[in-house]
Amino acid sequence: MLLLQRERNQVVEYCLKMSEKRLSPGTSGNISVRNPENKLIALSPSGMDYYIMKPEDVVILNPDGSIADGIRKPSSEWRLHTDFYRAKPDMFAIVHTHSIYCTVLACLGMPLKAVHYAICDSGVCEIPVAPYRTFGTQELSDSVIESIGSSRGVLLQNHGMVACGININRAFSLAENMEFCAEIQWRCLAVGQPNILDQAQMSEAFEQFKTYGQRK
Ligand code: 13P
Ligand code: ZN
Repeated sequence: MLLLQRERNQVVEYCLKMSEKRLSPGTSGNISVRNPENKLIALSPSGMDYYIMKPEDVVILNPDGSIADGIRKPSSEWRLHTDFYRAKPDMFAIVHTHSIYCTVLACLGMPLKAVHYAICDSGVCEIPVAPYRTFGTQELSDSVIESIGSSRGVLLQNHGMVACGININRAFSLAENMEFCAEIQWRCLAVGQPNILDQAQMSEAFEQFKTYGQRK
């Protein structure tokens, strides 16, 4: 049994999903899951084909970013993942993708607006854009942490997006919802000016989400 076996399996499963759902091309993007008890982080390896990646390829990091276990080099965005968990202690999974429509808006420096109520998943009415910094640097991590505020998602200028959640299922769903909202916003802008939901409409939608689905 490997250290953080469950979290390693989740990283492998969701990296594959990210590729199959065409949310990030090639070896781009990365995923981590944090263990709530020991706070160790299971992070995808750098530049590995998600179709051949195995649980033993996933790297286990200590909260400070040092390697606790693993045979591979961790994702180049390991600073972003570890800093993110420090900034949001109640979050336990992070999904970073280069999904098309989020990246299009990010290249335009355009925040994600409330063009659709699905943006509620992020916890905010407008998802910010973190200013451009080189990938895999401390500067990029700083830019993301400074920009995200109370949101669970952020766009990365000329790069992509990041979403977090209380578990991997929720973080991945947010990545999908952000991509959906970004595509709607882009398609609306191709034809005209989209109607943006106002504060009162968004407050009602947030209220509805409290009892949405199987939540009691
Ligand atoms: P890694 O393969 O090192 O995780 O990098 C991919 C990426 O998206 C960098 O921003
Ligand atoms: Zn990236």
